[in-house]
Amino acid sequence: MNEQSILQIRHLSFRYDDEYVLQDINLSIPKGAFVGLVGPNGSGKSTLLKCILRLLKPQEGEIFLFETPIAQFKEWHKIGFVSQKANSFNTGFPATVYEVVASGLTGKIGLFRSLKKKDKEAVFEAIEAVGMSDFVHRNIGELSGGQQQRVFIARAIVSQPEFLILDEPTVGVDVHHVQNFYNMLERLNKQLNITLLLVTHDIGTITEKVTHVACLNKHLHFHGSVSEFAKLKTEDLSMFYGHHLHLLTHDHA
Ligand code: ADP
Repeated sequence: MNEQSILQIRHLSFRYDDEYVLQDINLSIPKGAFVGLVGPNGSGKSTLLKCILRLLKPQEGEIFLFETPIAQFKEWHKIGFVSQKANSFNTGFPATVYEVVASGLTGKIGLFRSLKKKDKEAVFEAIEAVGMSDFVHRNIGELSGGQQQRVFIARAIVSQPEFLILDEPTVGVDVHHVQNFYNMLERLNKQLNITLLLVTHDIGTITEKVTHVACLNKHLHFHGSVSEFAKLKTEDLSMFYGHHLHLLTHDHA
C-alpha cells in the first residue's frame, strides 16, 4: 500500500552566511504521523520550519508538500501553523475565545458576526477539540498560558488543515498540564486524523505520545519510529545532545 507523503525533505542544506546550520537533511512524514522534532537551542529547528513554510529558500535540496515540489505548492490551506510567538499578540487584547478562533476563518478579529451557520459550527467544534468549550465567551487575556495555547491551536485547526505544525507549543504551559496538553494533541492526531509535526527542545514527555521522532542538531542524527528511538542508547543521544543531556527526563537519561 502506498502511504501518502505529507512532507518529504531530500538532501536539504541551509546557511545564513558561510556556515551551514542545516546539512543534508532527509526527512519524510507519512499521512497520520505525529512527529516530534527535537533538538537543543540553536540546532536549526526554526530554520527548518521556515524552509518548510517557504519563508527561507535552502541553498541545496528539495522539499515536497503533499507530494508537490514546494515551489509549485499552492494548497497552503491544508497546512496549519502555530508559532512560538502565537500568544504574544493577545496581551490585554479584548477578544473572546470564540472571536480568536473565528479569526482563523475570517483572517480578522471582528468579522465573525457575518459567519455562516456551518462556519460557526466549525468554530465550536475546533474549540471542543482542544478542550476549551467551557471558555467560549471568556476573554483570551484572562486565560493561562496553556489555555491560550489551546485556543491558538483551535484557531489553526478551524479551517480543517490536514497537516499541523507546532513550534514549541508547551512553552508557557504549566508543567503539571503538559501531559494533558499532549493528550489533547494525540486526540487531534488520532480522532481528527491531522498529521502533526511538533517542534520542541523537550525530548522527555513528548516521546510518550509521538509516533515518530526526529533528532536535529545541524544534521538529522536520528529519524524513525518511537520504538526505534526507545532502543537508542544514552551514548547515542549524548552524541546528539552533547552537554544538553540533562534535558532528558525520560528513561533514556
Ligand atoms: P533553534 O530553532 O533550534 O533554536 P535556529 O534555527 O533558530 O535554531 O538557529 C540555528 C542557527 O542559525 C543558530 O546558530 C542561530 O544563531 C543561527 N541563525 C538563526 N537565525 C539566523 C539569522 N537570521 N541570521 C544568521 N544566523 C541565524
